[in-house]
Amino acid sequence: MEDGIISKFVLDQLSVWPLAAANFRALKNVEVRNLEVNGLDVKLQHNPGRIKSSAAKVDTASLKARKCFLCADNRPSEQMKLKFEGRKDRKYDVLINPYPIFPEHLVIARDEHVPQSIWNRMVDMTDLARHYPSFTIFYNGPKCGASAPDHFHFQACPRGLMPLENDIDKNLDLVDGQSVPAGSPLEDLTSVQDASLYHYDKFTKGVFVLKARTSKSMAKLFYRLLDCLPQREDETEPMFNLLTWYKVSPSKKVSGISHGRFGEYRAVLLARDKHRSHHYFDEGPDHLTMSPGCADMGGLFIVPNADDYAKLDARLLKEMLAEVSVNADTERDIIWKLTRTQPEVQVGIMSGDEIEFEIISDGAGKQKVSYENGKISYNGTLYDELVFDAQTMSSMFAEPTFILYGVTIGVGFHWERKQVQKFAGSLKFIVDNGKVTAVNVIGVEDYLLSVISSEMKASASLEFLKAHAVISRSWLLSQIEARKSAAKEVKSSVKEDYTENGVHHYVRWYDREDHTLFDVCADDHCQRYQGLTLAIGENVRKAVDQTWGKVLMYDGKLCDARFSKSCGGMMEHFSSCWSDEDFPYLAAVPDTASENAAAVPDLTKEENAEKWIMGEIPEASESFCNTSDEKILSQVLNDYDLETKDFFRWQISYTRKGISDIIKERSGQDIGLFESMTVISRGPSGRITELLIKGSKSSMQIGKELVIRKFLSTSHLKSSAFVFKVTKSETSPEEDIITLYGAGWGHGVGLCQIGAAVMSEKGYDYSQILAHYYPGSRLVNKDRNE
Ligand SMILES: [Zn+2]
Ligand SMILES: [Zn+2]
Ligand SMILES: [Zn+2]
Repeated sequence: MEDGIISKFVLDQLSVWPLAAANFRALKNVEVRNLEVNGLDVKLQHNPGRIKSSAAKVDTASLKARKCFLCADNRPSEQMKLKFEGRKDRKYDVLINPYPIFPEHLVIARDEHVPQSIWNRMVDMTDLARHYPSFTIFYNGPKCGASAPDHFHFQACPRGLMPLENDIDKNLDLVDGQSVPAGSPLEDLTSVQDASLYHYDKFTKGVFVLKARTSKSMAKLFYRLLDCLPQREDETEPMFNLLTWYKVSPSKKVSGISHGRFGEYRAVLLARDKHRSHHYFDEGPDHLTMSPGCADMGGLFIVPNADDYAKLDARLLKEMLAEVSVNADTERDIIWKLTRTQPEVQVGIMSGDEIEFEIISDGAGKQKVSYENGKISYNGTLYDELVFDAQTMSSMFAEPTFILYGVTIGVGFHWERKQVQKFAGSLKFIVDNGKVTAVNVIGVEDYLLSVISSEMKASASLEFLKAHAVISRSWLLSQIEARKSAAKEVKSSVKEDYTENGVHHYVRWYDREDHTLFDVCADDHCQRYQGLTLAIGENVRKAVDQTWGKVLMYDGKLCDARFSKSCGGMMEHFSSCWSDEDFPYLAAVPDTASENAAAVPDLTKEENAEKWIMGEIPEASESFCNTSDEKILSQVLNDYDLETKDFFRWQISYTRKGISDIIKERSGQDIGLFESMTVISRGPSGRITELLIKGSKSSMQIGKELVIRKFLSTSHLKSSAFVFKVTKSETSPEEDIITLYGAGWGHGVGLCQIGAAVMSEKGYDYSQILAHYYPGSRLVNKDRNE
């Protein structure tokens, strides 16, 4: 309670500083008039003394040219100061404003010349409010009325002088706990611990109200709000004005219980779109010298010009206010971001006879569960299932809540090893196949943040990452739906496996098997997931945030949004690779801008496929995925330095003996010496879907594309879109060279990653990229009825 000190300080200061004293005296005689603006009774103050401040140039060059009037060295010798200690050694000088708009008008400036920015300083603001409870502390963002955006400062004025503050204060008094009475302009949005956030539906767009019992939860909720405001790329924080005060009530009833002396932090944030309205720049009769800051946005409009004061009416004020505030669409977006939700996904992380873990917040350190007689043993008790709950339905991204020890990563790779991993969300232990399995129950968006960070390079461009976020989300939600509906699809199948006329027919396809006890696993089998162990790239965060809840749908169903590295210039059909069905949105479309598309011939015909693969059709080179741009390729290829860059067109050579051995090893069938290959059928991308291989001992007719790729390479052939040529050896037929010329990398169905990265680089946005690779699909957000 330091209020008395301020009054004395002001008197002392004015007694030695004639300029300030004259301005404070003049303030007593300024004209004031009332107007009603969108339901709030506001005040106009005709204050000629403020012309300098309202017309101040705050661009970087002008700021550089002038001496900073808040730096101690440049202040007038008469100016006195009080000290205020902020948190973490941040020190402030409390000064009076020599050009006042309030009878006690303070500037609280950092003792260092550091830029105006609210990051980390909200706690100083609430501390100030509590220290001076008869004052309202306010903050103008660097582009929202701060006349010294280069030198950090708050301002303060006596409580109750701003109409908006008064109306909000009155309405907050009527809130019981968090619940708002009927007819209140406050709309309950969200809360964090003891802090609540409301939208104020009066006066102007983008008004948000906060209340909290502790400064810590106030800061938490305030920064969450800030995260939901639009921010321009080149700015350091969103545009806003902020008023904060500390309300002490002699007593208050909350949910029927009376409290004695009840203190509460309160704040109102006004989200802004512009510093000044067009009226400021208008040189005609519409001109207004007004640069709205906290006072104006608080309903006390400061008008330095007599002409302006005379002509201002409610219509003009509303117009100016609407222009400098965020618009209705932006307000709707902010509210949606604050209130949006995410469905839960269950991710199987690890299994073992025992599992070591740690719940970060409980302080118990490392603990252990183990498998015992079909149950989970924990602290001497047996459980069927054990859950450590955390809040997972956050509207923002969650923080780590638990740790798992000894998680195996890189299963089956040379770099396989154990790792300590951190996770957000809840931890659940279940029994699975004679072992304990740790399952992470987490919000879908939090999950995506992690998998996209593991699977994509942090350097990938934003629109490319956004397209991927939508694909991953669509896939994930279809996994969750599939498990809920328990409608088991056949996930892989042998279609033909018989011998007829000496030819072994072998046609099969592989697809992922679903899990039964959780939705997805953490390995490459589903999507590689390591919780919050890896740093989350800024672009990944943006990509998930900006596509939150959006999925691809066709005909009311989630799309099976497949993707591969490179289509080779043309997209393939689903049935060429998996079960005998096709989807309209997985169409055979050339991977090129539509104006080049018409020239691609029918690649299921052998002569066309050959010309296409051998580069005799010039249009092929126009394909999006035909690139050797290192910057783009390194975004898509995780082990860029290790991998070959030939994927759009590639070739590989074997000796006749060599390819015979590979076929024998990979298929298990000895065909003798390889003689020839005949294409039975190709898909629309030129990928072979059925191939007859003749050998000296036997023959085989194989499909679909993955079987062909598997049998003709020691690892996997890049794709099944190929033609081949034989070069005779002079020594022996065994030494003849068989060369395969191929196109593309992977199955080629759906999105072509390299093509998509090129599209993003060329300026296409993610919705255009998705529309290109999944024609006819719709980008849907069920939550928002979009
Ligand atoms: Zn300064
Ligand atoms: Zn899996
Ligand atoms: Zn492509």
